[in-house]
Amino acid sequence: MKPEPPQLLRQKLDELINQARLNEGKLKRFQDLELRITAATSLFDLLCTILYPDNAHFKWDRVSLLLLDSEYEIRRVLEQEGIELTEHPGLIFETEQASINSLFPPPLAPMLEQYRAHKHARLFADPNQPPKSLVLLPLLRHRQLIGCLNIGSFSEHRFVGGMNTDFLEHLTAVLAICLENATNLERLKRQGLTDPLTAINNRRFFDQRLTEEMAAARRDHLPLACLMLDIDHFKVVNDNHGHQTGDQVLREVALLIRAQLRSNDVLCRYGGEEFAALLPGTEETPALEVAERIRESIASCSFTNRYAMPFNITVSIGVAIFDPEHDQSATLTSQEHATSEEQLMGKADDSLYQCKASGRNRVLSSGRKNPPEAKILPVIE
Ligand code: GH3
Ligand code: MG
Ligand code: MG
Repeated sequence: MKPEPPQLLRQKLDELINQARLNEGKLKRFQDLELRITAATSLFDLLCTILYPDNAHFKWDRVSLLLLDSEYEIRRVLEQEGIELTEHPGLIFETEQASINSLFPPPLAPMLEQYRAHKHARLFADPNQPPKSLVLLPLLRHRQLIGCLNIGSFSEHRFVGGMNTDFLEHLTAVLAICLENATNLERLKRQGLTDPLTAINNRRFFDQRLTEEMAAARRDHLPLACLMLDIDHFKVVNDNHGHQTGDQVLREVALLIRAQLRSNDVLCRYGGEEFAALLPGTEETPALEVAERIRESIASCSFTNRYAMPFNITVSIGVAIFDPEHDQSATLTSQEHATSEEQLMGKADDSLYQCKASGRNRVLSSGRKNPPEAKILPVIE
């Protein structure tokens, strides 16, 4: 074989060095993006990092993320954080595994393709400005597709078959792990705020919301009502019918209370057989009416034990109102704000104690000087 002239060799070497430099720059950009993905502080932060990368660095004309969300869990997490999903058209959810699988014939490798409306329109939201070439990158966890990252370009030559996708594949491997972690973390967070027996929120959640609702009440100059509810003689229910029936009563009571509240009212299981509710924007008279409806609905409900034997229960409800007009919020320290939270809960608890002391099965408010006549207690069998 004839040796190549030194000039040609030099030229080839320069080209290789150039290519290596370009690749080094690309690697650095991908590594930066991967670092930002792993440093994301929440699921939404992670989604935004990938959906809106720095355009100066990546020159991706269109980016979308299709995620498998068969039980609407991811959507619920985002909505509960107040995220308006319609403002992020690049975020697409799919409930059917088969539908995502249909995008990737085995061996589940990146797909470099020209845009075809019938196949790709659902991945790129703006039908007036679809990309010309694109790459679909499978997101895999435990050999299952959990979604795909879709990058489009207005140039038909940007993504063409045979191109090296090593950096993109590495990025999507990192992204898939981070997505799984972030979703698991959100799941744990929510489990930590839910009472497993009644499936309503727990006291931890209530305490967080109390601080938020007090701040909102001060800001909007609106009252905040607090209801503390305790089942009367609940020990007798357990003693007479067994703790499993007692558990069932707690579940049903939670449902009966929830049925009388508005969707933005906060309800929690505060402890054993105690429940607490926050009713934003509610003054004393309507709060007492709601509490009375709850009391009445529980007293008139027929519960049954495991032998289908019917029995009744009653509840006592203490009501207290936070009135921001009487709270000099401007001069209060955060320590004192915490104190007014304690005061509200303390007042509701005092009213509840008054209910118990004056015969149970009643509603009393800390604001009312003269408690209404005691109601007659139904006898528990
Ligand atoms: P009072 O009218 O004064 O409130 O009387 P009480 O019997 O309801 O109150 P007490 O505090 O004496 O007893 C509460 C009972 O609630 C005792 C406890 O075993 C029961 N309890 C607490 N948590 C649960 C639970 O998760 N399941 C069941 N079945 N019982 C529970
Ligand atoms: Mg109690
Ligand atoms: Mg009780």
